[in-house]
Amino acid sequence: MQMQQDYKDISPSGSNCIKPPVSIPSQLLPNQKFVVIMNAEQFRRAGYQAIDRICDYHITLRDRPVSSQVEPGYLRKLLPSSAPTEGEDFQLIADDYQKYIIPGLTHWQHPSFFAYFPTSSTFEGILAELYASSTSNPGFNWSASPACTELEAVVMDWIAQLLGLDESFYNISKVGGGVIQTSASDSALVATVAARSRYIREHPQVAMENLVLYTTTQTHSLGKKTGLVLGLKVRALEVTAQDDFALRGDTLKAALEEDMNAGFHPFILIGTVGTTSSGAVDRLDEITDVAKHYPSLWLHVDAAWAGVAFVCPEYREAYQLPAINNYVDSFCTNFHKWGLIHFDGPCLWVRHRKHLIDALDVTPEYLRSKDGNAGTAIDYRNWHIGLGRRFRSLKFWFGLRARGVKGLQKYITDCIKLNTKFAQSIYESDLFSFVTRPSLSMTVFRLAPKSLPQLRTSELNILNRAFYTRLAARNDIAITQTELNEVFCIRMVIGAEKTLESDVEHALSLMKDEAMVLMKNWEGIGGRRGRKTHVVPSHSH
Ligand code: PLP
Repeated sequence: MQMQQDYKDISPSGSNCIKPPVSIPSQLLPNQKFVVIMNAEQFRRAGYQAIDRICDYHITLRDRPVSSQVEPGYLRKLLPSSAPTEGEDFQLIADDYQKYIIPGLTHWQHPSFFAYFPTSSTFEGILAELYASSTSNPGFNWSASPACTELEAVVMDWIAQLLGLDESFYNISKVGGGVIQTSASDSALVATVAARSRYIREHPQVAMENLVLYTTTQTHSLGKKTGLVLGLKVRALEVTAQDDFALRGDTLKAALEEDMNAGFHPFILIGTVGTTSSGAVDRLDEITDVAKHYPSLWLHVDAAWAGVAFVCPEYREAYQLPAINNYVDSFCTNFHKWGLIHFDGPCLWVRHRKHLIDALDVTPEYLRSKDGNAGTAIDYRNWHIGLGRRFRSLKFWFGLRARGVKGLQKYITDCIKLNTKFAQSIYESDLFSFVTRPSLSMTVFRLAPKSLPQLRTSELNILNRAFYTRLAARNDIAITQTELNEVFCIRMVIGAEKTLESDVEHALSLMKDEAMVLMKNWEGIGGRRGRKTHVVPSHSH
């Protein structure tokens, strides 16, 4: 009843309105203090402290454990079960971040971070994010904040140029264009929505349930997820170890013929440049030759990690840029992975923006604007799923200007050089061997001791799972695993900006140590066929 008194019905129809009435708190509750709102001077001081702490964090990274050792649920035990009733002093909040959050972080900027793919945090990027958050612009329409849209259109053209993309992908072409998405998964989803809409417009008689999305068995899980979200049939085309896990033209051709003869309609292929598991590069030269005979098949290229390497012209040919430029409909790369741009910076280019807009433009009256209606400005809300969007282009602008093209090229080539040395050591080692050819700054290998030549794949898998368990238990290295055609393997990816040659050597040496300990215990982990598998626990570090 008390609550009722705090509500006032301001609806025009009075008591006939079915909406809840608007709440207008009439007074503070007994004992309630005023809410603490930081003023500009307090923000200035807290901001100086935050920058100091961020600098200290970066300076001391090397001395920290790279992976967090907390247990699931650690934070719930430490934090109150509900938000505070009264506002709290900010110093307390800032200190609690240091106390409770930092220990639960994996330090992706750590020089010994070799897991997944890298993601950057640069000082320029931190400042860009700070500025962007200081105005909090959800620039969905040009008119909602013109600078947000205009800067994005410009930096996406800068990057297209930097990567050597064909001019038809530039925003300035007014036909194609680039947009910053929230993830490579969203880029694939959006490309598929556009491809489906184009296909259905061209083939209105085709039933949705006969549409097929093509991926390969090595496509990132975003392929399956896109199918799940859109309710599509997904066919994963086979790739082989002999082809270094790359999709070949003949495989695509055979699948297209088979499916079309069976009454299905493959309408998009998601190809990959730099697969997650092994850095494989689909043979887009062959694929585009086949696709030319199927003009309704949309080609989307997911180059989430490897695409950034196109900033170095020497990698363009081998990593299939000519085919991308000649034919594909859409191309995506995540600049936050290997482009020294803060998470999140996924870039998507389309050759014909019309298809995106045809598929995604939903414009109720409240989103209309003079320039949007007239088509004189880009309204990026029609290029992605959500409406509101972060002002991400600012960090691209800061980052690209601060490093310059040469700075970015040097970073990429330094990473590749470090990986080449690492790969050379693996190649020369008596303990390890490649599972597939190294790709850019990534090496996929396994423990395959020359002293144990008789081991079969299943036994090597047991050995390598145990090896990985030992590596994963350490907090002085972060590295991840994968499986390639049922071969369990270790992925080493170099990309943290602080990583030096000595860090890579250290990583190799600790891998050798772990391998030696493991091999001494080989009997214990089921080295003899038929014995029960038992993984030797890692000693604590
Ligand atoms: N594609 C590839 C090749 C990837 O390696 C990854 C992630 O590592 C993704 C897509 C997923 O990216 P996102 O998290 O932006 O969806």
